[in-house]
Amino acid sequence: MARPRNTDYDVVIVGAGIVGATLACALAASRLRVAIVEHDRPAPAPAGDYDLRVSAITPGSRVILDGVGAWAGIAQPRVCPVEQMHVWDAGGTGAIHFDSADIGVPHLAYIIENNAIRAALIERIGGCSNVQLCCPRAVDTIDVANSRVTLRFTDGTQINARVVIGADGPQSRVRQQAGVDLSAWGYAQQGIVATVTTEQPHANTAWQRFLSTGPLAFLPLADGRCSIVWSVDSDQADALLAHEGAQFLESLATAFGDRLGAVVSTSTRIAFPLQRAHAKRYVDSRIALIGDAAHTVHPLAGQGVNLGLLDAAVLAEVLLDADGAGRDIGSVPVLRRYERWRKGDNLAMLTVTDGLKRLFGNSMEAVVRVRNLGLDVTDSVRPVKNMFMRRAAGLEGDLPRLARGLSVVSPER
Ligand SMILES: Cc1cc2nc3c(=O)[nH]c(=O)nc-3n(C[C@H](O)[C@H](O)[C@H](O)COP(=O)(O)OP(=O)(O)OC[C@H]3O[C@@H](n4cnc5c(N)ncnc54)[C@H](O)[C@@H]3O)c2cc1C
Repeated sequence: MARPRNTDYDVVIVGAGIVGATLACALAASRLRVAIVEHDRPAPAPAGDYDLRVSAITPGSRVILDGVGAWAGIAQPRVCPVEQMHVWDAGGTGAIHFDSADIGVPHLAYIIENNAIRAALIERIGGCSNVQLCCPRAVDTIDVANSRVTLRFTDGTQINARVVIGADGPQSRVRQQAGVDLSAWGYAQQGIVATVTTEQPHANTAWQRFLSTGPLAFLPLADGRCSIVWSVDSDQADALLAHEGAQFLESLATAFGDRLGAVVSTSTRIAFPLQRAHAKRYVDSRIALIGDAAHTVHPLAGQGVNLGLLDAAVLAEVLLDADGAGRDIGSVPVLRRYERWRKGDNLAMLTVTDGLKRLFGNSMEAVVRVRNLGLDVTDSVRPVKNMFMRRAAGLEGDLPRLARGLSVVSPER
């Protein structure tokens, strides 16, 4: 048998975002030779002021990050636990309140800077002898042959693998090269993010008000401030970004109300286009898609990264089980197990968030009345509410071993 060259890998992951880097760490507990390719130079962990990009990480995702050895590397003083969540409708009196104590867990989520999570994962990759980080390098073309894939980079170099994983985000080059179609629609909206100081303490609570123009969330940060995610139509977003600080604060106060008193200061603001997108297929011969390369979800439920971490945990388990059983890890039957496991759950979350976005965007009186009633009824029927909470916290469902606190490697091996 020909000796593998140092440009030959078993698995090449394209994209060292949170999702791709988590998969790389999960595969560290194996004999597979893994390369992870990234076109940016990953930034070090933030040390000064808070980065504007933060995510609500569920307890289930925390278990995964812990299982791959990255949780301990995230500076805990910058992690804000969320104990409660208040959601209410600006168009009526309907409201729902979630409390972690009701489902017997200490926290519903953790608000963490994306950079902090990514930096901890990259540091962990540095300690994995079977994982090679190749950056900065951008994938240009991908050729699939019978038993291997060849990836060519924009700098003219190339590497080979038995399977390539597209973890390269919403504009995935891997997905394009594989010819996988996307079912997608833009909302013609942007999510404005900023860090703000409020008059009253956030009480480790996530606050979300549904306006007819889109949801506005105040997420608690460990230093007492809040990170906002404000979804608005694109032309309104342009106007809000152009506002002076004081004018922006005034608009923000009108949109949010006075639950946390006045909003007294804001950082700079940036905006991200919002869309719903789902890949028609997650796998092909020698190719699989994970994270935002496979699905993009509206941020109103704070689930995008969390779905991607479950994709990574499931795919690691599928690849390692197949390798342990002596099967071809790039074959369609092996990769199909990953697709079957994740596609239905991801589609369900895409459908729920899209449905909520449309329901709360509807100003028809009858719809407003019914949805307010629905909020109140759901709030009062404990078993239903608790089931939602456990599911959204990533504690229920068909969970992979990593998400259950077990080793990614099957105990039968
Ligand atoms: C405003 C907003 C708020 C959000 N809040 C939350 C939240 O609270 N909770 C939550 O769970 N989710 C949230 N999300 C969603 C979340 O940000 C995404 O789901 C998540 O970042 C996707 O991670 P990823 O690793 O799949 O992709 P990305 O973060 O897009 O990473 C892809 C990586 O691939 C690299 N790459 C791309 N192309 C190439 C190439 N050709 N070659 C090499 N490398 C390449 C990129 O440089 C990048 O590092 C939010 C999203 C938005 C817009």
